[in-house]
Amino acid sequence: MIPYGRQDITQSDIDAVVAVLQSDFLTQGPMVPKFEEAVASYCGTTHALAVNSATSALHIACLALGVGPGDWLWTSPITFVASANCGLYCGAQVDFVDIDSRTYNLCTKALEQKLIAAEKAGRLPKVVVPVHLCGQPCDMQAIHTLAQRYNFKIIEDASHAIGGKYKNEPIGNCRYSDITVFSFHPVKIITTAEGGMALTNSAELANKMALFRSHGITRDPAQMTHEADGPWYYQQIELGYNYRMTELQAALGVSQMHRLDSYVTRRHQLARRYDELLPTLPIITPWQHPDSYSGLHLYPIRLQLDKVSCSHLQVFETLRELGIGVNLHYIPVHTQPYYQRMGFQPDDFPQAQTYYREAISLPMYQALTDEQQDQVMAALKTALVL
Ligand SMILES: *Cc1c(COP(=O)(O)O)cnc(C)c1O
Repeated sequence: MIPYGRQDITQSDIDAVVAVLQSDFLTQGPMVPKFEEAVASYCGTTHALAVNSATSALHIACLALGVGPGDWLWTSPITFVASANCGLYCGAQVDFVDIDSRTYNLCTKALEQKLIAAEKAGRLPKVVVPVHLCGQPCDMQAIHTLAQRYNFKIIEDASHAIGGKYKNEPIGNCRYSDITVFSFHPVKIITTAEGGMALTNSAELANKMALFRSHGITRDPAQMTHEADGPWYYQQIELGYNYRMTELQAALGVSQMHRLDSYVTRRHQLARRYDELLPTLPIITPWQHPDSYSGLHLYPIRLQLDKVSCSHLQVFETLRELGIGVNLHYIPVHTQPYYQRMGFQPDDFPQAQTYYREAISLPMYQALTDEQQDQVMAALKTALVL
């Protein structure tokens, strides 16, 4: 089976992890700060906090921004559930903004309209989480302008987007946001097995996230309520969690960072081949906004269902039978039973629903060969004429 996404592990990755196993520190050693520094300097951000998943990064980002009961968090319905769940973890309520029909990202016009209505109703969001779907950045400048007008904070869910650019600057530099989050799950662009990172240019937010990452405990005398009792002393000043990344993971991350640019370049080559070779089929290939250089985590096609005699499900199943491990990103979050119980209806976000009925993610990962990609395209042709 050709999967839709897959990690790439080299001998130097393996050597880097083995070296940590033979060292003094399996956790809380030098590799985590080294990985943080590598990502922060790549993105041009002043602070980076490595954690055990992007889900944890989203959680501590919300906590650092003070999200709590009575607050609202808005995000896109076409995302992984974690982009929304982080608000619920903090006791806040979650709502969604429909997607743009071309980029599949949160639609800025829909956001503005919803903000106007929310201001009248007195329930403006505290935080908006734009998700850079497939690695393509959202319209961050416009979202940032709205954030100033309506006074909300921005967490970029860039789980798909490390290595990409927005207006020629690295995604993750937080020029238009408070915090940016990356994921290093194996299907994402670089991996640490499980892992994530939160980036910010605010020392205050970085300090808060560092506390929430590790039990709310500090060893910094300046943050303590009174002088230390002795050299063993620490203080718990917040209710935090254990969201730390291990040294093994960070070593893998440092090693993978060396290949980040070549990974994204390869993804762009593959996307160009799909773009060139697929348009004869009754599908829509992903559109790229001129402001964006996508990380290209995913390559979702949309079936033109009025031009084919088979259903979305049939095409999906035929591809799987032909050995192509296609997937669907994503089931609209508001249609999940847990969210339906909050009162959301499937057609609350019609663009998201339409996208869901037509989308199929084709294989897209750095190690995919041209020959395998040809196999994917041949299978797609077969599936569409059945
Ligand atoms: C993968 C993903 C996450 C969660 O990442 P983990 O590292 O698995 O916790 C969050 N948001 C989006 C958009 C993702 O794709």
